[in-house]
Amino acid sequence: MPRKPKPSIPSGYVINDNLYKTCLRSFSGAQAKRYVEALSAFHRIQASAGFLDAAKYIASELKDAGLDEVKIHKFPSDGKKKYFQWVAPAEWRGHRGVLRMLKPEEKILASFPDIMCALCPGSQKADKVRGQLVFVPGGGGNPSDYKGINVRNKFVLATSHASSVQKEAVMKRGALGTVQFPVDVDDPDKVKYFGLFPAGEELKKFTFSFSISRRTAENLRSLLDKGVKVVLEADVDASVGPGELSVLRASIKGTGKERKEINIISHLCHPSPGANDNASGAAANLEVARTLAHLIKSRKIKRPKHAISFLWVPEFYGTFAYLWKYPDYAKKLLFSINLDMVGEDQHKCNSTLGIVNEPDSMPGVLSDIFYDTLARMRDKGVFSKDGTRNELRFKKAGFMTGSDHAVLAERTFGVPSVALINWPDNFYHSSHDLPENTDASMLKRIGAASLATVLFCAENSSANALSLAAHAAATRRSRLLDFIAKKKAIVSTLIAQGRKKETATIFQKTLLELEAIRDASINGLSTVERISDDPFVQELIENTIEEFDEFANYEIALYKQYMARTAGKYNIHIDKQVSRDAAEKQMLSLVPKLKFKGNLSWDNFRKRLGDKGYGFYRDKVYGGAGEHLWEAMNFADGIKNIHDIYIRVSAEFSNVDKNLILRLFKDLKKTGLAGFKTVRIMEM
Ligand SMILES: [Zn+2]
Repeated sequence: MPRKPKPSIPSGYVINDNLYKTCLRSFSGAQAKRYVEALSAFHRIQASAGFLDAAKYIASELKDAGLDEVKIHKFPSDGKKKYFQWVAPAEWRGHRGVLRMLKPEEKILASFPDIMCALCPGSQKADKVRGQLVFVPGGGGNPSDYKGINVRNKFVLATSHASSVQKEAVMKRGALGTVQFPVDVDDPDKVKYFGLFPAGEELKKFTFSFSISRRTAENLRSLLDKGVKVVLEADVDASVGPGELSVLRASIKGTGKERKEINIISHLCHPSPGANDNASGAAANLEVARTLAHLIKSRKIKRPKHAISFLWVPEFYGTFAYLWKYPDYAKKLLFSINLDMVGEDQHKCNSTLGIVNEPDSMPGVLSDIFYDTLARMRDKGVFSKDGTRNELRFKKAGFMTGSDHAVLAERTFGVPSVALINWPDNFYHSSHDLPENTDASMLKRIGAASLATVLFCAENSSANALSLAAHAAATRRSRLLDFIAKKKAIVSTLIAQGRKKETATIFQKTLLELEAIRDASINGLSTVERISDDPFVQELIENTIEEFDEFANYEIALYKQYMARTAGKYNIHIDKQVSRDAAEKQMLSLVPKLKFKGNLSWDNFRKRLGDKGYGFYRDKVYGGAGEHLWEAMNFADGIKNIHDIYIRVSAEFSNVDKNLILRLFKDLKKTGLAGFKTVRIMEM
């Protein structure tokens, strides 16, 4: 009689050896890279024929692989219709676009489709439009940039974002068209991607815009500086009008009756080539789906309990449209994974892979699995045969808002969502984002890790749930301890500098932040219960959560002791009544309730607030505080006051400006996007 092999001692990684090795063996980085090459050939503007063709290409590969359901869903999109807060873009049909210099010499400056980024999507038809070129030194995005410059019936050369230059120069001041170039790029021949995305009245008033390299722009500028008259001619065969957004959905059925799902989402849009952003995410997603179908069909794995669905969307707009039409979809989702820029050759692109964790407002545990699995891959060395031998570079990136995971994680939909994003990338949004800058090894690591993660969560295994609970509790303990250590270091420095008042403030704020971290950690841990339906396992997870709660409360009590001891020793006065300034008192008394669903559209906010009022936010949003603002809105549940919201955001990110949070909610109220309940401040 053959002897049953003894089960080996588990390796201590979250994902068991069997599943890990099966996924690593079966996911092909080389095939994913071939898909990147194929998808890069499509000009994938949000609502366009090129996007639809790319979706059809993926759909046919999926059907061929035997996925259970493959369907392209279409949504009206005309630059007017809104899905939640977001105006869906009009369809763009771009065929040709040439920008010529006629004087002082004849020369082609930009040509589409030679370079796909050369003609900005959203450009309208132009029939040999001729005019003189003027340079707007201030950037061209603000009214003040045009002081003393007449642009009427001229071409405008500028550096601000294409749509804001169209608005200021063409719509308001009668310029013929605009020419964009970037200032902040190292490579002088790179042509950057700028989209016009006209909406509302802009649909009739925007004209055309070309994007040129810095080198071409510098040549033009040196002519203008010498006082030479430069005459250009634009020839554009393109149109903008009503059309459709396409969202491709595919799925693998689960065996469970509850019809719960785990999804992988990736945006398929952006101009050709757009290899890393985001043919890479779309390709990795496709290869995960194909591999999974193959593993089930060939009985290498059992059909999982939960369904696994795959979405390819026009970034943001398609996700909103889909959730608008299918509100039940988000309710079925247990977890979501967003693959965005996952193909980078990190050396060429100068990138680091960020594991973008679930926000504290909607915490989850998939980022824990990815962190553990990618560390395992780095330590063991995982390479694709035709990929690089570079060591994987990755980090915990915190919560970021720039892609579709932020849509699903928002309070309306409430799906714990993780994202994998290589950032920065030398070639991002430019003519140089080419397949040669992708790496089959990177695609293999992220693809295999994603495949393993969805299966791990979908197969309804007690062992998986317990392994994850133990691991996730440990990472949350470290987070709490790290936070305390950092705050103690700050306190020591302040004391050494004799800054007693600030020390007292930090003491009190830290206590509240620790409670916020404890709450978010517990909420995150409780999502592990979604992985197994065994009541005994659920009970064990509850125990883990209780243990964590005890640990956190013990650490908070120790911190209080440290606070009292330090205050006594250095003669620091801590008010019984937490010392508060006028802003904090106001924050405590106001409970905001948002009057919209889905994430705030900054565009809509700008329209309601006016350009001047919004100017204040523009710098913040692009200056790194965008996350703070989105998270503040995510926490606004109609129960928490603004101070409580501020503390939670502050526990999640460093350097959160309380006045910014207060101003946001006041402006949301001013613009009719939020209301306030006023509460009496409790004396402490
Ligand atoms: Zn992207």
